Amino acid sequence: MVDRLANSEANSKRIGVVEGCFGAAGQPLAIPGRVLIGEGILTKLCRKKPKLRQFFLFNDILVYGNIVIQKKKYNKQHIIPLESVTIDTAPDNGEYDLRNGWLIKTPTKSFTVFAATATEKSEWMNHIGKCVGDLLQKSGKAPVGEHAAVWVPDSEASICMRCQKAKFTAVNRRHHCRKCGFVVCGPCSEKRHLLPSQSSRPVRVCDFCYGMLTAERLKPRRSRTSDIDL
Ligand SMILES: [Zn+2]
Ligand SMILES: [Zn+2]
Repeated sequence: MVDRLANSEANSKRIGVVEGCFGAAGQPLAIPGRVLIGEGILTKLCRKKPKLRQFFLFNDILVYGNIVIQKKKYNKQHIIPLESVTIDTAPDNGEYDLRNGWLIKTPTKSFTVFAATATEKSEWMNHIGKCVGDLLQKSGKAPVGEHAAVWVPDSEASICMRCQKAKFTAVNRRHHCRKCGFVVCGPCSEKRHLLPSQSSRPVRVCDFCYGMLTAERLKPRRSRTSDIDL
C-alpha cells in the first residue's frame, strides 16, 4: 500500500489520474473533502478462483477494479461506502496458498482479500479501520450490524454443504445460499426469501436458512404497549 499526501494538490491530482484510469465507465471520484489514503493490488477471492484486483482506499469509499493495464487502465469499477464496512481477519487459504487475508463485509456484498505481506495486511486493515471509525464518529451512526454472507468458493465444495450427498458435476450445478454463503445443490435451495439489504426481490436461500428466516418471521413480537396493558 502506498500512502499519499492528504489534502494537498498532489492528492487531488492523483485522484484525477485514478478517475482517468477507469475511463468513462467509472464514477466521478474527485469530490470536495475526499482524500486518497492508499492504493495497491490485492488478491480477491472470487467465486471460481482468486483474482488480482486494484484497490484504492479513500477516506469515505473503497474502490476496486479489474486491472487491464497496471497503473494505466482499470475497468469494472466497484465503489463501497466505508460507512457500511466491517473488517475481520480471515484464515489462510491452503488451496491457493494465500495468506495475510481479511474480510471486507458490507450489507450487500462481502468478500475476502489477501495482501502480499503481513505488513501490507496490517497497513490496509489499520487504514480502513481508522477511516470507518472516523466516518461513524462524524455521522454519529452505529456500525452496520448485518452483513451479506461471504460466499464459499466453488472449489471448496465437491458435494452439497447442506445434504452432504449431492455431488457437483457439469449437470448438477453449484448454487450459493445468499444467507449463509454455503455451496448447495438445487434441491437444497429451491426456496427464495426476501433479504432486503441484498435485493428488492426474493433471493435463493438454502432450506436450512429458509427455515430459520421463516421461524424468525413467525416469532410473536412483543408489543410495546403490553407492559402497561391491565
Ligand atoms: Zn443438497
Ligand atoms: Zn443457507
